[in-house]
Amino acid sequence: MTVAFRIAFQIRNLLPLIPDGSFCRCGSEMDRFTSHIYCCPTQGDRNKIRNTMHCTISQALKRISTKYFKKAKLYALNGEPACDHFLERVPGVQIPEDEPIASGQPVPRNPMAKRRADFGFSGVARTILVDVTTTSPLAKEVKDYRPGSAADAGTKKKAREYSKWFQIHQTDRCNIFFFGVETSGGLGKEARQYVKLLARLAGGPMGMEIQRIYQQIAVELQTARANQVYITRNRFVLHHPPAQPGS
Ligand SMILES: [Zn+2]
Repeated sequence: MTVAFRIAFQIRNLLPLIPDGSFCRCGSEMDRFTSHIYCCPTQGDRNKIRNTMHCTISQALKRISTKYFKKAKLYALNGEPACDHFLERVPGVQIPEDEPIASGQPVPRNPMAKRRADFGFSGVARTILVDVTTTSPLAKEVKDYRPGSAADAGTKKKAREYSKWFQIHQTDRCNIFFFGVETSGGLGKEARQYVKLLARLAGGPMGMEIQRIYQQIAVELQTARANQVYITRNRFVLHHPPAQPGS
């Protein structure tokens, strides 16, 4: 049995992933499912895990989406598409030049205005952009958790940030989807709408197509999660309290 498969099996069956009484490098106790890492106070470690997860899921979702969009003659845009090329700006919003500082490194003064989506597909008449947002159900801003609600909270936050700069609801030529997904596997409402869009493009019976897409996403999520546990276990878990927090 490969390590990834064993971890996936353990996650699926809610078996402990690390021994009880383990610690995080930050000094906190590490729970047996290593979920602590999503809200670890050590920002570097937390971001490493979040970014890896985000990147893996975005790439997988792009790969899954490609064959569906192809049927509608929409093709993958290169890299991370700049939103400003596709979305209408909110009237009056200007994108300032980067301001050079002493060290010579330009600092983006207005990061949202230079926002890039994770991936996109474009055809003659329209463009679809996707911004993936991964949320842990343990995140502080999530209250009264039910599956999908943490993803919805992440989606709302993204939409709020975007709508300061872009008219995200003006959809004549370009739609943007905020694909909210939870580290535990739950999908947000808008992510489920995106799945429906793909299923419609497939042209087959909707219910079956939707199930097929969910299955593909679920497999990828499980792999991403197994990967996260593997990294956490090897790099951040201690079997004794750290001598000094953060050491
Ligand atoms: Zn920690």
